[in-house]
Amino acid sequence: MEIEDIQSQHEYIKHCKKIHSYSPAVNKLLDLSESYIPDAEKAYKEGAKQAIWAGGYGWEVPLIYACGITPVAFGEMGRLSDKEAMAIAEDYYQFPVETCSMVKCTVGQWHLRRNTSTINRILGNSSACEPFNLAWEIMKREGYDVYNNDVVYRGPTVEGKRLEELVKFFVSQIYDVAEWLTGSKKIDEDKLTEEIKRKNRLLNKLKTVLELRRKHPFYVRSLATIVMLNIGLNNYFGKPEEFEAAIDLLIEELENRPVDEAELQSVIPLVWAGGTGQEFGIYEAIDQAGGALLGLRSVPFKLYREDVPPVESLARWVYDNAGAGAGVYARNVLEQEVDKLNARGIILYGYIGCSFASVDREMWRKYFHEKGIASINLEGSFQTGAPTGQVITRVKAFVEMLS
Ligand code: SF4
Repeated sequence: MEIEDIQSQHEYIKHCKKIHSYSPAVNKLLDLSESYIPDAEKAYKEGAKQAIWAGGYGWEVPLIYACGITPVAFGEMGRLSDKEAMAIAEDYYQFPVETCSMVKCTVGQWHLRRNTSTINRILGNSSACEPFNLAWEIMKREGYDVYNNDVVYRGPTVEGKRLEELVKFFVSQIYDVAEWLTGSKKIDEDKLTEEIKRKNRLLNKLKTVLELRRKHPFYVRSLATIVMLNIGLNNYFGKPEEFEAAIDLLIEELENRPVDEAELQSVIPLVWAGGTGQEFGIYEAIDQAGGALLGLRSVPFKLYREDVPPVESLARWVYDNAGAGAGVYARNVLEQEVDKLNARGIILYGYIGCSFASVDREMWRKYFHEKGIASINLEGSFQTGAPTGQVITRVKAFVEMLS
């Protein structure tokens, strides 16, 4: 199947599974990814499991699981979206055309689900972007039960007593979220400790996977890599045990595979920075040009502290990751990744309409250009369907240029 023949995200996943026919582990990860939203909604409708829509990538994930609820990442609805979802956001809710496509897709999907028996609670976050803040206000009006925790921000010089005050503030926020989730501020600390341990265990296992991939760069191709790290590692596709079993199996597969010198000679190591959209054809273009995404900046690999009470551990993790000037810190991480992997280039990706991420990307592009490190700056959208031929041509030309 040629990239140009693929028209939907489902077809990309099918194609990717065929390419990975040698790996039961990668096939399982792709299955988990594809069934994430439908299975969570089905289990919720049948009364088998409680579930809420959530960002599904940070401190809230261990908390929600510890409360016996499944976090369902609303960003993943993008894959189910099409022009209709975008049109709802633009025409019905009057979102300006230039608004970020991720927000418009999500709004369109929630609109189509309102007043149905599916998941009707949304955990937002006031620290996110303005378009999402607007989306949550609109969804409240549309009958969803929406909760937003307060803004989290740590200024560049905030340490010591001031930082401790912030931690205290966020700890109280976490108890408020627990109350919204379960009706009680009481948090089962044993369960939360287990979830934190699970998260740390998986962060370490995924670091092992990334190390092993340096010896087997083509074993997990680009789309599967993104799915495994940017979604799976964050929220486990709503099925923590199954996700961990798939990762264990993948480690076993990689460890048992002999190193292929020809593969190591031909690979073009790349680092990916920024969001990951639903234009799966971009990943296919990287693969076909001989590239391998061996480093990813957008995945947080910081462990949660296990030497402090679990609720405090969540709060400290937030402030350890939410420093002002994050664009510069992220650039440093990118540079370290490039050095460690001997990467030949960086792919900078963001969504059309996201003003602050585009500033970061432009800053990084300039910095790496001056250092002689090649990069390509891509802006994509979130709706399904094939990516434009122009994007594929640019990606292929960039990767081939590095060979
Ligand atoms: S990509 Fe930017 S504008 Fe879009 S949801 Fe994320 S932060 Fe907001």
